[in-house]
Amino acid sequence: MFARVIVDITNSNVDRLFTYSVPEDMQLSPGQRVLVPFGRGNRPIEGFVIELTGSAETTHQIKSIIKPLEPYTVLLPDQLKLSEWICRAYHCTRADSLRGMIPATLRGSRVREKTVRTLRLSPGLDKDAFLASMYKKDGTPRAPKQLEVFELLNSPGAEYSSPDINAFIPGASAAITALIKKGVLTESDRELYRDPFRGHDPEPTEALPLFPDQRYALEGILNADPGEVLLLHGVTGSGKTEVYMQAIADALEKGSGAIVLVPEISLTPQTTDRFRGRFGDLVAVLHSHLSDGERFDEWRRIRFGKARVVVGARSAVFAPVEKLSIIIIDEEHETSYQSELTPKYDAREVAQRRAKLSGARLVLGSATPSLTSYYRAKHGKYKLLELPERINGVPMPHVDIVDMRQEFLSGNNSIFSSLLAEKLKKTYAKHEQSILFLNRRGYSSHAECKACGFVFTCPNCDVAMTYHKYDGTLRCHYCGAAYRMSDKCPACGSEFIKYSGIGTQQVEEQLARLIPGIRCLRMDTDTTGGKTSHREILDAFSAGEADVLIGTQMVAKGLDIPNVTLVGVVFADSTLFHSDYRSGERTFQLLTQVAGRAGRADKEGSVVIQTNSPNHRAIRLTTTHDYKAFYRMEIEDRMHTLFPPFALFIRALFCSESEQQAADAAGRFADGVTEKLLECLRAHNAEKELIFVMPGSAPIRRRDGEYRYAVIIKLARTKHTAEAINTVYAYADGFNEECFRGVEVNPQEML
Ligand code: ADP
Ligand code: ZN
Ligand code: ZN
Repeated sequence: MFARVIVDITNSNVDRLFTYSVPEDMQLSPGQRVLVPFGRGNRPIEGFVIELTGSAETTHQIKSIIKPLEPYTVLLPDQLKLSEWICRAYHCTRADSLRGMIPATLRGSRVREKTVRTLRLSPGLDKDAFLASMYKKDGTPRAPKQLEVFELLNSPGAEYSSPDINAFIPGASAAITALIKKGVLTESDRELYRDPFRGHDPEPTEALPLFPDQRYALEGILNADPGEVLLLHGVTGSGKTEVYMQAIADALEKGSGAIVLVPEISLTPQTTDRFRGRFGDLVAVLHSHLSDGERFDEWRRIRFGKARVVVGARSAVFAPVEKLSIIIIDEEHETSYQSELTPKYDAREVAQRRAKLSGARLVLGSATPSLTSYYRAKHGKYKLLELPERINGVPMPHVDIVDMRQEFLSGNNSIFSSLLAEKLKKTYAKHEQSILFLNRRGYSSHAECKACGFVFTCPNCDVAMTYHKYDGTLRCHYCGAAYRMSDKCPACGSEFIKYSGIGTQQVEEQLARLIPGIRCLRMDTDTTGGKTSHREILDAFSAGEADVLIGTQMVAKGLDIPNVTLVGVVFADSTLFHSDYRSGERTFQLLTQVAGRAGRADKEGSVVIQTNSPNHRAIRLTTTHDYKAFYRMEIEDRMHTLFPPFALFIRALFCSESEQQAADAAGRFADGVTEKLLECLRAHNAEKELIFVMPGSAPIRRRDGEYRYAVIIKLARTKHTAEAINTVYAYADGFNEECFRGVEVNPQEML
């Protein structure tokens, strides 16, 4: 018997199957990890068994597998097929694609099971004889401690570690040793489960009777064909999560499993609690905030079928769920489903492929679907399911837009418009809660000279530095450089430095002046460093320990707190004028999400959006919560200007300390790839599908001391697209210049 093995090295030179012989007495299956001798020195390295064959098909001398690394397969058959697809689709090595499917700590055996020595009564122990031997003739016990230990363990299933027994019965160690010696107690190694929830058990819940729209959506999901994709478009608070849970319950009843992807860790406390409340220990979580040990244990609970509902971030799409029957991607429009590391996969595409391979259904859910998904649903590629109303007839919140330029002209220089200030006061007086949202993605508080306009930029990168008030530093978020803020402008010596962009701290300070005594909680990257602090902040706010929650993107999604009746968007425009064609779409999505946090129960909600662009459709249309109107206008623009989904972008990146070198390499790449693409398209008489190939400096021209140049390729999306992408990949493979950093299809950020 021979095994075809992928060695766990990500180097394209060894990115192929190597054949090893399997020793007679070794049991192996595809999907298992093995140790194999490799290279001239026969260095032992780890590898994945992809298939077993009867013949070797090689004339080379065949080496033999040293040993399996685990007694079980770490990859299921559908995962092996999926990894094959991933290398093709995202142009990475097979080892790269396989690594993403197992916990990183499994490799190199860095984390193992955690065990503890436990004690229980020996099976078949003659209890009466033992007890008889323990009493003197006059009825007094011979060894009271030993009797106590015996009593503690004398109940069905009782099994404790020696420290635990000592906690119940102080000074029991000698008694334990004696009982082991007599054969009364048996020791064994029990695995200790590292529980990421650590006793945080939510209230159990039961399926709610569904409203007609929900029932219709659920039936749509349950009746879907294997491999089918459904788009569940439901406004915020329309009961999507309840539909997900009932679809999962159906899968569990049939003995199958489910994967639920949620976009961000900030969403997981409340969301995972809902799933755990419904499905208890059958739920496992997978996200980046787990310790190595916790992730390893969760992964194995999934692998061995103890957990059959996986809730996690994008990489959970690779979870080893057997008999997978449903994948749910909540808030499918979120950018965090796109990986920025190799392989640069899109979890939505991977999920779609995995659903096909496993015969599962894929449900994409959102209040504001990505334009591309909605377009596909409209054109029959996905099945569209809709929940147009909030549960129980709760009205959508009332949205006011405030033009901050007018506000400034009328003499209000504060962060809060008079409308928002008034509403904050009213909400506080009614003992209801508010959320103040800072749209800070893209740029944050940078320091600028009021006199000459000098902006403090990072010396290594071409970006403005962020001012951190708490320690008086300027920091670069791209390279991590930190400098002490100077009192004077380095350019003109003026002492008037202005901090543009608003931080959560500043909002808190002004709010305290506006409403003395108001209690605030802040949630941003400065306050959520710790592992649980995020959850602690949310729990405290839900428990009513504060009147206002001030936060960045983290507060935008998922929160469901009945007492929140006011949402204020401090300044909506930060995401609006990015050099990215999706900035309008993203702003609309974000504002709709935040607005959805207000008035989710019986109290009416209200939203105030402060902006300098009140007429921009991404802002204007949030007042009517009109996703469909936004979609119609946006998709029409994209069709006319040829932007996704009607076109696609490919970006090649070149970085070098020498600007000339990066620019020249980009120029050569552009020339070469244009020629290849035209050659490929000409064969189909489709040269005009290549819209442009544009070399130039990247939006962030300098980062970490390197100059960055990019070649942007824009192609019409047609039936030739796949072939064109492969042409670019093939050209990139042969482009061996040192400053070339690879190509990416549809990058989420053009920065
Ligand atoms: P979404 O996920 O669309 O934002 P949720 O699932 O969070 O909506 O539902 C909003 C609220 O309505 C939640 O508090 C939820 O418990 C409640 N809810 C959902 N479905 C029902 C139902 N069928 N009957 C009663 N309450 C429901
Ligand atoms: Zn100056
Ligand atoms: Zn920097």
